[in-house]
Amino acid sequence: MLGEVSRRQFLKGAGASVAGSAMGALGFMGVEEAVAASIRPFKLANTTETRNTCPYCSVGCGIIMYSESSKADGKRKIMHIEGDVDHPTNRGTLCPKGAALLDFVNAPTRTKYPMHRAPGAKEFKRVSWEFALDRIAQLMKEDRDRNFVAKNKDGVTVNRWTTTGFLAASATTNETAFATYKVVRSAGMLVFDNQARV
Ligand code: SF4
Repeated sequence: MLGEVSRRQFLKGAGASVAGSAMGALGFMGVEEAVAASIRPFKLANTTETRNTCPYCSVGCGIIMYSESSKADGKRKIMHIEGDVDHPTNRGTLCPKGAALLDFVNAPTRTKYPMHRAPGAKEFKRVSWEFALDRIAQLMKEDRDRNFVAKNKDGVTVNRWTTTGFLAASATTNETAFATYKVVRSAGMLVFDNQARV
């Protein structure tokens, strides 16, 4: 709606103006300008806001990621993350894991692409997504061909595949979760979980 001020916008503006207007109300005319001049530029003023969902658990808290172009290489970098006060789930709050998301994003040990450790090798090497997906599919097929159980010892059809597990992600969309579930269960896989245990 035009002219509507969100909780986030309100909180942003309120903090900066309270000090100055309170002094003005006490009769110190001109002090508002002095206070405004002394406040350092808001550190998020020139950043780009992107809304997202915390990836850790099934609570699904809303977050806002602030990014700006790096002076060193021109690439966009996330430099601040906070809870989204407009989000109906968390109303701006975050638990310690969510509050530490910036460290997670910038961690030097964060996995950003597929890695493969060949049989007998000591080191992981970066591989393409094509290689990784083909390799996973091949190994899954070989394992399923060897271990799929169509009927139990009483002759009852069970269609079980218990020797491979699937770890999905709780922060996906409903559509992705639906498609993942169908793939996993239609293959007969029983061991299926994600980080939220839902
Ligand atoms: S901020 Fe904490 S409670 Fe919220 S989704 Fe992330 S891990 Fe879960």
